[in-house]
Amino acid sequence: MNSENVWVESFVVGALAMRCSIVTDLTTGDTIIIDGGAETDRIISWIENFSGPGPDWSNGPTSHEELALHNIAARNIVALVNTHAHFDHSGEIPYLLEKYPVSWYLHKDDFYLQSLVQASAMRWGFELPEPAVADKLLTDGLELTLGSLQFKIMHTPGHTLGGCCILLEVEDGPDQLFAGDTLFAGSVGRTDLPNSGGDFDVLFNSVVTKLWPLDADTVVYPGHGPMTTIGVERTTNPFVGINSVAFRSAN
Ligand SMILES: [Zn+2]
Ligand SMILES: [Zn+2]
Repeated sequence: MNSENVWVESFVVGALAMRCSIVTDLTTGDTIIIDGGAETDRIISWIENFSGPGPDWSNGPTSHEELALHNIAARNIVALVNTHAHFDHSGEIPYLLEKYPVSWYLHKDDFYLQSLVQASAMRWGFELPEPAVADKLLTDGLELTLGSLQFKIMHTPGHTLGGCCILLEVEDGPDQLFAGDTLFAGSVGRTDLPNSGGDFDVLFNSVVTKLWPLDADTVVYPGHGPMTTIGVERTTNPFVGINSVAFRSAN
């Protein structure tokens, strides 16, 4: 895919300020939604009508007129994909599936966690619908074709058992990595959350073996907090970077 056709939008949603990413191919209008966890009314209004507050970050059209310049009348949602199954990331998938009856992809090692999202959210005082059940599996190394979009899936357990990072390879520009809660700018996801199978050593190994080999200019869209790049985190991340205590004691 060429960089001029890669349209990415970030919606920071819900009480836990989770990043939902919308990825569209501007040559076809084919679109996926990554981590549709909250504020799905807001997301749907924007996708359908460009109405409401819209994304917190975008590199593409902000009106039907701008979209029409690409000969696209409307976006075509081809799939929903999740990095993992914490309720802030997956709690409102049922609302998205009502509007867009497409396949929903999740790693099977997060199926148990997914079955608990309604109960987990209740402990935080949030109401959610009956948990969605994924009908398609993410697996490590999977080359995932969704409409005209192509992604590479990396299983990166550690924050949860089934956590995955989703890579969009760009021919003439930086690749785009949707990292969920595996890697943050200057931090990593928690490894102490209930029912999640979190383990720092596993997370460290996932990041070092799967993410550090990526190109330095790869843009990282974390599940929480600001965007970053692989190069910056590889050098400076205090928990898993090559100058961290964990890295130095492992190498
Ligand atoms: Zn999480
Ligand atoms: Zn999260």
